[in-house]
Amino acid sequence: MEDCLFCKIVKGEIPSQKVYEDENIYAFKDINPAAPIHVLIIPKKHYNNILDVKEQDTMIYADIFSAINKIAEKLGIQEDGFRIISNCGRDSGQEVMHLHFHLLAGCKMGPKII
Ligand code: AMP
Repeated sequence: MEDCLFCKIVKGEIPSQKVYEDENIYAFKDINPAAPIHVLIIPKKHYNNILDVKEQDTMIYADIFSAINKIAEKLGIQEDGFRIISNCGRDSGQEVMHLHFHLLAGCKMGPKII
């Protein structure tokens, strides 16, 4: 999508700190981290959010969660653990309208971190 911030990051038009990349997925450090480790995992293809992923596209979740496993291994956080969050729509406070999953790690987290 032309005016989407995260599409521009995928295309390299806006700089990012890459953590992981494969054919369908891109992951990079959040610019305003809410935890010592804060990574955003996104599909390269544009979806606004979870509600925009229709049944025929749900294989993207397998790609996302498989990438999350690899990122957890790469970052060495399997033992201590981590949290995955995806904001969807107005009440969640979703700011960027490109499907993304927050990976938070590196500290003990209370029930409300983001
Ligand atoms: P959300 O509120 O779930 O839409 O989260 C959007 C996230 O994107 C926030 O945590 C922002 O800090 C992060 N963000 C916004 N712009 C950038 C950027 N240029 N590079 C990395 N992260 C960003």
